[in-house]
Amino acid sequence: MADNLPCATGFSVAVRTEPERSPRPSFASAGSRTEVAQTVAGLRLRATLLHTGAPEGACAWRPEKAAVVAGELYNRCELRSLLPGVGEPAGDGDGDAQLVLALFDIYDLHAFRLLNGRFAAVVVAGGRAVLATDHAGSVPLYTCAAPGRVLAATEAKTLRTAAPGRRLTGARAVPGMRGVHQVPAGTVLDIGVGATGCAPHTTWAPPHSRRILPEDRAAEAVRAALESAVDARTGPGTPLVLISGGIDSSGVAALAARGPGATTDTVSMGTEERNEFPQARAVAGHLGTNHTEVVVPASELVARLPHTVWAAECRDPDIIEYLLPLTALYLRLEGPGRRVLTGYGADIPLGGMHREGRLPALDTALAHDMATFDGLNEMTPVLSGIGGHWSTHPFWDREVLELLTSLEAGLKSRHGRDKWVLRAAMRDLLPHETVTRPKLGVHEGSGTTSSFTRLLTDAGLPPPHVHRAKRLVVGELFQQVVVDGLHPDEVDLPAVVHRLDRREFVP
Ligand code: ATP
Ligand code: MG
Repeated sequence: MADNLPCATGFSVAVRTEPERSPRPSFASAGSRTEVAQTVAGLRLRATLLHTGAPEGACAWRPEKAAVVAGELYNRCELRSLLPGVGEPAGDGDGDAQLVLALFDIYDLHAFRLLNGRFAAVVVAGGRAVLATDHAGSVPLYTCAAPGRVLAATEAKTLRTAAPGRRLTGARAVPGMRGVHQVPAGTVLDIGVGATGCAPHTTWAPPHSRRILPEDRAAEAVRAALESAVDARTGPGTPLVLISGGIDSSGVAALAARGPGATTDTVSMGTEERNEFPQARAVAGHLGTNHTEVVVPASELVARLPHTVWAAECRDPDIIEYLLPLTALYLRLEGPGRRVLTGYGADIPLGGMHREGRLPALDTALAHDMATFDGLNEMTPVLSGIGGHWSTHPFWDREVLELLTSLEAGLKSRHGRDKWVLRAAMRDLLPHETVTRPKLGVHEGSGTTSSFTRLLTDAGLPPPHVHRAKRLVVGELFQQVVVDGLHPDEVDLPAVVHRLDRREFVP
């Protein structure tokens, strides 16, 4: 087993008042499956756990209470300090589910306000099913509930054959899947299993205010927060960092590689048309990592569109373009499941995508991005899960994200540079040309946007309508691989493109 991966990377859970058979769940994420069933305070709980060899720590059972957790916590020491018996070393049975259950004993659902992690969880207690996401909703969580049953799963497709559920207050309906809802980021849904009353509780929200710090203190704070986030995610064994040679991923690689004797693997992908190999090589050489380059032919890259939608369960064509090259890379990574770190997400709290120097516009853009990330599933572990790997993103650590979001905009755009505070935080660890390198999006540097565009223009779609056509293609792929349950290998992508109604695109 990959001993440095979470106990479970996904789940499907059914909580019922009466016994009933559950359909076999279908996951995009790879992994072994373990079925568990218990009666908890008179409710029947059945769970399918997706894991890489040690699912025990993902469940905690007691006669009156149970917890199921997919993913992992990053502030375990802090959390343990809240429990009786502080100071005793953690035992084998002390997986994250045990910890969540012990905190639930003390704080009830407010326990979820304490967690810094990458997880989705279900707690069953006192006739309730309590469904929780982490602050970022980084492990998506879906539910379908009707009186007498609550189903929850880390992939929406798993619920597609469930009998329709009720409208749930405080959850987002999934298009095309009647009664299936996504639990928002930083939210606990407290659902009565017998009656299906549903009370949402917000456990995290992005800061709206801005902190004022001198340059050096801001850079030190960013460095310290990122160091902790990288350390908490590295685990035993050699981490693998996806690097592009951009400041975000190079910063993560530099921190992962900074300990004495630390070994770090890095990998970069590109197509035969575009890559950032020279820039990534410079970083790997500087840090002394074991570096690999993976060339994915542009035709293979585009052919992974259905897999990307299948994994991300997202209908937004721009997000799918960011995630497509990473999906193609995860599918190319061979060997046992790896713990993978990325620099993904730094641009959202830092406003890096906007190439915007004026502070009001910069802050407007990042406030908008922080208010609208939820439900896009950019951080979902299923992307790496389809290749059997576990990805984690230090920039979306709760503490890092709060700090970066809250810094005043002038620290993000300064001295003519975007993401200035991050560059300042990393400048002693990386080559000067990396620290000063302008942002290049993963979809640009890998030629993904241009390859997807060509798929459509080669099929005769007029260039001014390409973005709309991309939206329609991604929407149709979502219908096929999520709503209709097709495997992505069964999708006929050229036919999807061909079937686009050309009349809609007449200039
Ligand atoms: P910058 O935003 O300054 O370009 P970056 O390249 O590290 O920095 P993004 O472009 O936002 O960040 O890309 C998101 C993440 O995806 C990266 O942090 C990195 O982990 C991963 N990534 C991007 N491009 C590649 C690539 N060519 N090969 C491997 N991983 C990549
Ligand atoms: Mg980049």
